[in-house]
Amino acid sequence: MVALAFIMIPWAALVTVRTVSRAKGDVLSVFHPTTDQLKETNAPADLIMRVAQIVPRTEAEGPGVRFAVWFQGCPLRCPGCCNPEFLPFAGGEAKTLGEVLDWLDRTRAAGAIEGVSLLGGEPFAHAAAGAALARAARDRGLTVMVYSGFTVEQIRANPDPAVAALLALTDLLVDGPYERERPDTERRWVGSTNQRVHFLTEKYHPDDPCWRARNTLEIRVDRTQVSVNGFPAPDAIGLWKPKWARKSGPREQK
Ligand code: SF4
Repeated sequence: MVALAFIMIPWAALVTVRTVSRAKGDVLSVFHPTTDQLKETNAPADLIMRVAQIVPRTEAEGPGVRFAVWFQGCPLRCPGCCNPEFLPFAGGEAKTLGEVLDWLDRTRAAGAIEGVSLLGGEPFAHAAAGAALARAARDRGLTVMVYSGFTVEQIRANPDPAVAALLALTDLLVDGPYERERPDTERRWVGSTNQRVHFLTEKYHPDDPCWRARNTLEIRVDRTQVSVNGFPAPDAIGLWKPKWARKSGPREQK
């Protein structure tokens, strides 16, 4: 995933943090799924997903209102990763695909959403579950956005068919490792300047004004917890986290 995409602690207000604009010319590749790749993603409702967090309705993780799922577990260790608590594969919560889809459908029944965003952790390290969720999202007429710490070249070189299937089902991909020393202040929904936005289908286009709108950080408060997601200003990253997460960077994978 891309760092800055999610930070969470046990809170609901929407706070505009900074204004960004998006440069033209970031269409780096176009990839159209084959029928065989799409067939590979049929999955049973009891497929287990290792989930770190779900925000069922957010405008801070891609275009429109989106159902955002953070996977638990990432094999990468980007210095300055703002989600170090999502790195161990042993953490998070085991949810079935059926449970997640029930939540998705309840969310849609309560009000229209545009798509699903997959973050982490690293979605391509959970490719079978990610592809199954992405297929179900497509079946419901939703778009799919994925944040990955891998580059698209690395993803395409991966022989795992589930990885190819997830990529084939992705409309928008933000790729590459988060680089703390290169914060991106120009493009919406991008953490560092090395990261690229790939418009993999015709669903989105870089000339859409949404890419030049204000970026946001969302803070939710309920009775028992506070959660924060979105893209905070670089000097505010992790201020609401435990000290170890703010200063020591990622913990070692368990
Ligand atoms: S280590 Fe890198 S790819 Fe993994 S969650 Fe952190 S920022 Fe994302």
